[in-house]
Amino acid sequence: MPFRATILTLYPDMFPGPLGQSIAGRALANGLWSLDAVNIRDSATDRHRTVDDTPAGGGAGMVLRADVVASALDAVADDRPILAMTPRGAPLTQARVRTLAAGPGAVILCGRFEGFDERLFDARAIEQVSIGDYVLSGGEMGALVLLDACVRLVPGVMGAASSGDEESFESGLLEYPHYTRPYEWEGRTIPEVLRSGDHARIAAWRKRKAETDTRLRRPDLWERHSGARVQSPSGARHDDEG
Ligand code: SAH
Repeated sequence: MPFRATILTLYPDMFPGPLGQSIAGRALANGLWSLDAVNIRDSATDRHRTVDDTPAGGGAGMVLRADVVASALDAVADDRPILAMTPRGAPLTQARVRTLAAGPGAVILCGRFEGFDERLFDARAIEQVSIGDYVLSGGEMGALVLLDACVRLVPGVMGAASSGDEESFESGLLEYPHYTRPYEWEGRTIPEVLRSGDHARIAAWRKRKAETDTRLRRPDLWERHSGARVQSPSGARHDDEG
């Protein structure tokens, strides 16, 4: 059974969008994954096909109705995890992406306006997911990001070599930097070690670069990475590696 994605959205025409191109697009055409975009508005029951209403308690904007979204969801829900895109959700991680990609797929709810009526999350088993600490105008771009990250890991989508675990975040670190020809460009050369043909030295250099770059660019990641490695039996952290 290939990876199946169902998107609930007010803008189904945004799909597959960029996921119809390149690696994801080829895999989609080859049936390695499937994508279904369902219009939430089709689940509205009134003459005007209303999906939203004003926020209880007042304030700007509109809120997606729990009843309308739930009925759209119930019509497609099966054994797949249900994810809702929201800046209030848990930040998406490569680990979560990897688990999702190994599963049957996902049903993804895309918000608009001020977001969803909160009761939706009490009434259904929905995982709230954020793609970062910034606000989008809708969940569709978030869903595209999440699916792009998942689909490239679906078996058969990328060559075995490229889905390797050296990639950024796979080991809790950023990946080492890359270089390619020409050897000299604007007076800058490729690090000599990469031309040495000495695989052990190259591996050691790459590991060191991954570590220093992570430490300098992403102290948050480094903290977690070195914290996980350097734990005394008492649980106290050593400072000498950080
Ligand atoms: N009022 C909300 C933001 C609504 S933005 C708040 O302040 O929390 C409208 C929709 O865009 C959201 O319902 C969600 O589906 C999507 N969205 C916005 N930012 C997002 C993010 N960082 N991650 C995932 N989805 C996001």
